Amino acid sequence: MKAQPPASHFIDGEYVEDTAGTPFDSIYPATGEVIARLHAATPAIVEKAIAAAKRAQGEWAAMSPTARGRILKRASEIMRERNRELSELETLDTGKPIQETIVADPTSGADAFEFFGGVAAAALNGDYIPLGGDFAFTKRVPLGVCVGIGAWNYPQQIACWKGAPALVAGNAMVFKPSENTPLGALKIAEILFEAGLPKGLYNVIQGDRTTGPLLVNHKDVAKVSLTGSVETGRKVAGAAAAQLKHVTMELGGKSPLIVFDDADLESAIGGAMLGNFYSTGQVCSNGTRVFVQKGIKDKFLSRLKERTEKIVIGDPMDEATQLGPMVSRAQLDKVFSYVEKGKAEGATLLTGGGIPNNVSAEGTYIQPTVFADVTDEMTICREEIFGPVMCVLDFDNEDEVIARANGTEFGLSAGVFTSDLTRAHRVVDQLEAGTLWINTYNLAPVEVPFGGSKQSGFGRENSLAALDHYTELKSVYVAMGKVEAPY
Ligand code: NAD
Repeated sequence: MKAQPPASHFIDGEYVEDTAGTPFDSIYPATGEVIARLHAATPAIVEKAIAAAKRAQGEWAAMSPTARGRILKRASEIMRERNRELSELETLDTGKPIQETIVADPTSGADAFEFFGGVAAAALNGDYIPLGGDFAFTKRVPLGVCVGIGAWNYPQQIACWKGAPALVAGNAMVFKPSENTPLGALKIAEILFEAGLPKGLYNVIQGDRTTGPLLVNHKDVAKVSLTGSVETGRKVAGAAAAQLKHVTMELGGKSPLIVFDDADLESAIGGAMLGNFYSTGQVCSNGTRVFVQKGIKDKFLSRLKERTEKIVIGDPMDEATQLGPMVSRAQLDKVFSYVEKGKAEGATLLTGGGIPNNVSAEGTYIQPTVFADVTDEMTICREEIFGPVMCVLDFDNEDEVIARANGTEFGLSAGVFTSDLTRAHRVVDQLEAGTLWINTYNLAPVEVPFGGSKQSGFGRENSLAALDHYTELKSVYVAMGKVEAPY
């Protein structure tokens, strides 16, 4: 299987190569096969991409929002027409099963282009402020050149979630995908160009943690939106702060999912499984600390074990496969090291924890894993694992579980399962998180703001709220009479 793109970067409407950049391989995680060979961006490539973006942005910003939106909507149509091709590429890039990518990856990217393309005509208006004769008005203006930096778990979605609001608001974007998943964003750039986006407005350059700072520190960059770990977020936000740049930080989490004893048991288990095993556990908002009320603990664990052991692991291109490999060997090793810590610190390994026996030895697979009897101070309960490892904790009552759920530096997401609606609302009101669910988990439609609080970041993606993070307001005071000066 090969997925070699025509060149490593997409700049100013065309594929561009600079073989002076450090070469790196794109590896299909299911087999370890090299599917593409690329080059990281040299400083010359970074310069070229930012210069193209800067050149193109002014004319784009001068177009009507409706005209900009029309191009984004066309891009969403092309993505839907090519959903299978894009989903297969996403599967090669990440190892995620085609059963998932076909419903969750290009489609959620297309949703972003469709949503922001659709709201463009109405959502970028300013206000008229009457002042008794005089008046003021506000204009919502783009920031200029925006940089997007992606993680490897949802490469196409991240490229679109950042690109759609940035572009529709009149900005240009330079996007750097994760070095682990370099392929998807190039296709998004190609499709935008094909949909009629003028050249230079959406550029993709490759590279790793040494390339990112070249973008973040560049004087012509007005804003940086990062999806990545807290550690990277601190570095990127710090560098951006030194030049007072706008930032959006979509970072990691260790989110609580609380199951009260009156919950619909099968739904709660389904929610916990989706919130831990989807995308092989590589989802930032996962509910990795599952708090189960003591009265239903045994029933919950026995059904969870039964259902988890039926998960179909295997070839990600087989539509029956439900769980694929981890994105890389390094991430797999990290997850295994947490499994060892869980055992060493006294958690009960309910199921999983090993390598499945029906997969290629070169693939980076791990069984879906559940630890029970986890306590708050265990390492597996405090640190983000970013793999298919669920921690189940017991609790007695509501006040106790809220305090324990909030006892973390993270604040990305949280969920509650209960059939008592007033309790559900009371609990979500007190949970410290940016994105919360009642009686479901991990649904993130484009209409709803998505993002975190505390160390999980700031700013919001999706919904009209995202436009606030890609524009700034200009206020204009208009005097209707003469200036009365006291001197
Ligand atoms: P990472 O932080 O290692 O890398 C993220 C991106 O930042 C990569 O493109 C990387 O090359 C780049 N980068 C690294 N150091 C940089 C620096 N100093 N300056 C500029 N760029 C730099 O994260 P990852 O391992 O790719 O992704 C996993 C993490 O992302 C997890 O913590 C996960 O929770 C988080 N994540 C968050 C969200 C969200 O929306 N909140 C979504 C997906 C993933």
